[in-house]
Parts: sequence; structure tokens; C-alpha cells
Amino acid sequence: MPALSEVITALDSLWPRERAEQWDAVGTVCGDPDADVSRVLFAVDPVRQIAEEAVSLGAQLLVTHHPLYLRGTTTVAADTFKGRVVHTLIKHDIALHVAHTNADRADPGVSDALAGALGLRVLGPLVPDPDDPEGRRGLGRVCALDRPLTLGEFARQAAAALPITAQGVRTAGDPAGTIRTVAVCGGSGDGLFDAVRAADVDAYVTADLRHHPASEAREHSPLALLDAAHFATEWPWCEQAAAQLDALSDRYGWDLRTHVSRTVTDPWTAHAASSTDSTNTGAPN
Ligand SMILES: [Zn+2]
Repeated sequence: MPALSEVITALDSLWPRERAEQWDAVGTVCGDPDADVSRVLFAVDPVRQIAEEAVSLGAQLLVTHHPLYLRGTTTVAADTFKGRVVHTLIKHDIALHVAHTNADRADPGVSDALAGALGLRVLGPLVPDPDDPEGRRGLGRVCALDRPLTLGEFARQAAAALPITAQGVRTAGDPAGTIRTVAVCGGSGDGLFDAVRAADVDAYVTADLRHHPASEAREHSPLALLDAAHFATEWPWCEQAAAQLDALSDRYGWDLRTHVSRTVTDPWTAHAASSTDSTNTGAPN
């Protein structure tokens, strides 16, 4: 059975901390380096429900994509929800480790997992890391479909492949338009539109697309947009990450069991589609 410090070293080899963005807060949040680890839970968000899931699973390590504390704090008192998470974890001898933007840019990274879930063939990074001589690491991925689909078909396929969320998948563009090439970025991707346009793809799949970047992208070119829930675009990474740790565990002869949380931690819980009949009294028509 490996010590936490050994498992953390393995995780750091997959997602080196120095490759995280400057503003990010990755690495180990709590945990005793000498403690034994036999069960590891992977999840997107370090929220109360996930901490409780780690407890009921009997895990000694929780690995999340999102940081618990992104900025400094002066308290982990349990009267804050983040402090409560820390208390729950420490009381049950569970460590928390975060791999965020270092997992985004990794090879394979968060967007590879998203591309895989969508059945796409990855051609390369959307924004390559300048310090990667092989040109495989970086933000987002440029991908190809094995056979062309209409935007409508591709959106339905994406909605069926990703975790169920209230939002589902929103699209912008001609539903009958042909999609052969796609850029993907797990998480909030509306800062990458210049790279998406330069990649000359038919569609862009990401999350958190705001009005102005989306509107401007649509005015600029016929690029189709697919906007999924942030959680849904990053959850596939959990399965990929667990499989990566399984492979390392086999190599080192560890008796380690990995689990992937199926809890949907997307904060949105319901979606009311606009009605198009006479009960709709909204002004624009
Ligand atoms: Zn995210």
C-alpha cells in the first residue's frame, strides 16, 4: 500500500505543478504524507457532497480538478462551506489534491478526455505550449470527426455522450450545416476564440460562452458553437485521470483502487425551455 507522498509524486508526474497558470492553486490542500492510501476518488468539484462521498467510500485521497481555495484564506473554520469540507476530510483522514490548469495543458489533458467522450480524433493542441518540443501539450484540442455530421446531429451526439445536466448542449449555427472539424476546450473556453478562428474549424465545443464573445464569433464567421455545462465538459477528465493513476499503480505494484464520482456537481438544476405558444408574454417576437 503506497504512502500519500508516493501517490502525490505519481500524480505530479502526470500533471507537473509548475505547468499550472500563475494565478492557479494546484497541489495538495490537506493530507499527511506518511498516511497509507488504498482508495482514491476523482471528482470535478471539492464541494460538500463530494467530501461526503469520499467518506462513505472509505477513500484516503480525493483528487479534484477545481481548487478548493484559489486565493489565500485566514480560516478553515467549519462555519464556512470550504472550512466544512476541510474538516470533513481531515476528520476522516482523507487528503485532497488538486490538478487544475496543469491538467488542462497536459498530454493527455482535460480537452483530450472531452474529445474522447465526443468520439473525436485529436489532431493537436489548439494553443500549443511553446516549451513542448513535441507540440502535444497545450490548451484545447483541434479534432476531426470520423465522418461528417450536421450540427444538429453532432449536438445530439454530444448531449448524449456527456453527463446529464440541466443545460444540455446549446448550439449556435445552421443545424443542417456540415461539421467535419471541431475545436474543443474543457471548461470556460471563450478566451480562445482567436486560436479557434485561426484553426479554421467548423465548430467549437466548450462551456460558459458569454453573450459578447459568442455574438462576435458568430458575426465574424460561420463557425458553429456548442456550449455545454462547465461540469459536463470536465467530468470526462476524471475517468481519464483515474485510468492514468491505475496504470501507474500497476507499474509500481500498488494495491490501489480508483473510483470516479458520478455525482453531478453542476450548480444548475433545472431548465425551462422558452414556450412558443400564446402563453409566452415576453416582449421580443
Ligand atoms: Zn473548470
